[in-house]
Amino acid sequence: MARKTMAAVLHGREDVRIEEIAVDEPGPGEVLLRIEAALTCGTDAKVFRRGYHARMIVPPAVFGHEAAGVIEAAGEGVVGFAPGDPVVMANSAPCGFCEYCQTGRASLCEDLLFWNGAYAELTIIPERIVQKNLLHRPPNVQAHEAALIEPLACAIHGLDECVIRKGDSVAVIGAGPLGLMLLVLARKQGLSVVVAGRSLDGLERAKALGAHEVVSKRHGDLGSQLRAISPGRQGFSLVIEAIGTSETIEAALSVVRKGGQINLFGGSAAGTTASLDVERAHYQENRLFGTFHHTPETIRRALELVAAGAVNPNEFIEGEEPLRALPRVLKEMTQRKRKMKTIIRP
Ligand SMILES: [Zn+2]
Ligand SMILES: [Zn+2]
Repeated sequence: MARKTMAAVLHGREDVRIEEIAVDEPGPGEVLLRIEAALTCGTDAKVFRRGYHARMIVPPAVFGHEAAGVIEAAGEGVVGFAPGDPVVMANSAPCGFCEYCQTGRASLCEDLLFWNGAYAELTIIPERIVQKNLLHRPPNVQAHEAALIEPLACAIHGLDECVIRKGDSVAVIGAGPLGLMLLVLARKQGLSVVVAGRSLDGLERAKALGAHEVVSKRHGDLGSQLRAISPGRQGFSLVIEAIGTSETIEAALSVVRKGGQINLFGGSAAGTTASLDVERAHYQENRLFGTFHHTPETIRRALELVAAGAVNPNEFIEGEEPLRALPRVLKEMTQRKRKMKTIIRP
């Protein structure tokens, strides 16, 4: 007998409808999850604006990828999880077999399996995610707090890939939830961090979360403002770009100091390019690299940080709305009226 669930269904550009859809019983290895809370994400707002996601979502489709809840039913052969268990999962799982998985680089898996469907009452979690990235939720972690582990794990992975030396100065470009998570994690490593961005609310939060200084795009060019406040005006030893536009990437490239690194953390639209002063990059021995997504290991560390109270998910959240309000919430995100995450309750 198929069950029914209310779910947000993406039909096309700026066309999301809350509908009743059928949800199957969990198959072998799968879990049926009753979602308690989902979190909005900038990626969802992009998907809403474009009407699809090249890698993950072809309409009509359910979407949303940050959620936590309670197991409603477990399929045949599921070990370690039973109905009633509070859980949280990542939105993907690597294959474990490809060359990247075998060499410890699971975020680059050739066959990353994605799950979408956080904006619903019920959702099926695929077998591979159950096996690799479904975690029991400690009793002190609420569902909406646990749902933050997906983006937090991306930020952990992004910082793991940086070579950090004592006394490094850090600039984070981007004052959205991920920019702020990168700030918090870098501060935990004892680094001095400045944050550059547009959102005044985001920059206010950055100050409260320990940013040494903040600079706003409203006051002029980010690159020159950042250079002016860098140690000795020499630039920063680590620049993390968490927006992904040509302009902000070029600002990042312009404020890296001798021997410094630039991490292209923000997801760019297809076709985005940026010009690089190659001569400077060579003689300065700069490292330029990208980081993407998370791994089963960083997902686990993210949950540990939240459970231990070392990262407070509520710092990146700005309110709560019922599922039926999702189309309006997404619209407000595209209009930049909502910059932090919103809890969506089914
Ligand atoms: Zn996300
Ligand atoms: Zn793989």
